[in-house]
Amino acid sequence: MPKIAILPQHLANKIAAGEVIERPASVVKELLENSIDSGAQDIQIDIEDGGKKLIQITDNGSGIDQEDLVLAVTPHATSKIKTDDDLFAISSFGFRGEALASIASVSQMEITSCTSDNHEGAKLEITGPEIDAPIPAGAKKGTVISVRNLFYNTPARRKFLRTTNTEMSHISEQFTRIAMANPSIHLTLTHNGRTLHDLAANQPLRERIGKLFSRDLTDNLIPIHRNDRDIEISGLIAPPQHSRVNTQWQYIFLNNRYIRDRFIGHAIKESYRGLMEINRSPIVFLFIQIAPDQVDVNVHPAKAEVRFADSNAVHSQVLAAIRDKLLSSDYKVKLNLEHAEDKNEESDSQTKGDRQEKTRQAMVDFFKNNSPNTTPSSQHAVIPKPSHFTQQAEPVTHHSQQPKIINNVDVSEDDETIMDKTSQQPRDVLFSEMPVSQIDYIQIHNSYLVTETDEGLMIVDQHALHERYMFEQLWQQSTKGPLESQRCLIPETLDVTEEQMACLQDSSDLMEKLGIIVEQFGPKTVAIQGFPILLDKLSPKDFLADLLDLLIEQVGHVSQEQAMHKILDMMSCKAAIKAGDSLTPQEIKELLIKKDQVERSNNCPHGRPTSVHLSLKQLEKEFKRT
Ligand code: ADP
Ligand code: MG
Repeated sequence: MPKIAILPQHLANKIAAGEVIERPASVVKELLENSIDSGAQDIQIDIEDGGKKLIQITDNGSGIDQEDLVLAVTPHATSKIKTDDDLFAISSFGFRGEALASIASVSQMEITSCTSDNHEGAKLEITGPEIDAPIPAGAKKGTVISVRNLFYNTPARRKFLRTTNTEMSHISEQFTRIAMANPSIHLTLTHNGRTLHDLAANQPLRERIGKLFSRDLTDNLIPIHRNDRDIEISGLIAPPQHSRVNTQWQYIFLNNRYIRDRFIGHAIKESYRGLMEINRSPIVFLFIQIAPDQVDVNVHPAKAEVRFADSNAVHSQVLAAIRDKLLSSDYKVKLNLEHAEDKNEESDSQTKGDRQEKTRQAMVDFFKNNSPNTTPSSQHAVIPKPSHFTQQAEPVTHHSQQPKIINNVDVSEDDETIMDKTSQQPRDVLFSEMPVSQIDYIQIHNSYLVTETDEGLMIVDQHALHERYMFEQLWQQSTKGPLESQRCLIPETLDVTEEQMACLQDSSDLMEKLGIIVEQFGPKTVAIQGFPILLDKLSPKDFLADLLDLLIEQVGHVSQEQAMHKILDMMSCKAAIKAGDSLTPQEIKELLIKKDQVERSNNCPHGRPTSVHLSLKQLEKEFKRT
């Protein structure tokens, strides 16, 4: 008995939909691209409940003929390619003719459209497998498509939809990509009646990025342009002092289509090499133009991947375009300072003072955290000020605008408020176990501490050890309750994207656990009202930006516990003394004492060792004494 049958069309569509339509954001992408393909100059997108209830798009493009309406929702029906050759010279976004058919098969769809040839428009409603004939309907030139109750008939997929905020942030991201690539089009995005974006027509790219991202960033963006070997590269790149924890803020457009590409990603990373810390990612907005026959965009309908005929050429052109620009101007000077962990762009002496202030701040934290009774409000601890700071003649500037109040002692005050370490030692019960004076050590290259042990000698990586110590502190505190927070006297504000705002709203419990108090300050701005005491040498604003990047990257990929581990990891790395920080003898001794007190202290949280041991035996062997 024959067993094979061709699937009914509506079922085949549903299966195809699984590939193209993953979530509401995919619908938004397809509909937006169709509107742009139709030549629209004005496009409005209205969303309800993160797109789960409604996605509606209104454009003033060419419109669809009444006779074509049914074809528009029929698979493999398209107005965009006709011959084999067209397939290899695609200039439109769509060409497969399957998006509308797919969306219609998993939602309740309505299309109203009118072309300039017709006085009257027509409406097509699709609410089930059968499609009724279109009916006349009054309409302006252009198309309105509404998609209701996405996945209503595929419960398994519907179940995979996430919170309204998460779905909305995916929609915002799709919107952002398309808006950036089409700055001439007037684009509006609303959610539950609230306008999230209203982007004017013919906006310069920089201005558009400013509207979509933060204003702080846009002012500093550097334009690039290079046209060589038939590859034209243009766009805006951020100087290295603006960076992110991941590549999320790298937007690459190929012939005006958003893409992700491993080779280009690598070229970007390479072009900033040495100018940026190795674990940071640059911010770039790159537009690459290349002849359509030099690239295959037909790799996967929903994925943003492409195949280049000559990916090496693309790699080298991207690298050259960015690198040349970064190295050709005085950005380089700033970069070198940046590399030495300084953000101060003023005079050299100022920079030095700033850096030392940072180190001092790190140590202030360090001592503070080791104090036996650490309720911040009740304690009036003495904060040792390392002697070399008091001797500094240069003005010492605080790395953040915000005055830091620690244990009720304002450390940004003059010397009087802070006692010299020679006159008073920090009172720390842990110190009683070993007299500080008994530890001999040397610090080499402001990075390693060398000390004698019973068996030989030990070399400690000061950053790795302090990081390990900070991690343990943070981990232990976090298992007991929220991290201790202190109110910021002057709250710092941070401009956030729609996606970051949604992430913040979804992460309110986590923020509380971390001791970060954030309040909405404007439609796209938040104010940081409180910040963990353990991190108070960090800039709350920069930290929150990095934290949001990390969270957005992790949503849905890792367990809560793993996420917490990663966050504490990031916190301890940022808060720890850095390699290159010059430490006072007192600071070094205390760091070494901590070594024995930190559980598993032989490895920093990244798994790198915190110390290396060299036994007398090994030394003897090296010197050929045995
Ligand atoms: P594709 O975009 O790959 O051609 P779609 O299923 O997305 O396939 O759309 C099918 C056809 O419907 C398009 O080729 C186009 O002719 C028409 N169409 C869809 N949306 C619009 C729109 N907003 N304005 C004008 N025509 C449209
Ligand atoms: Mg399409």
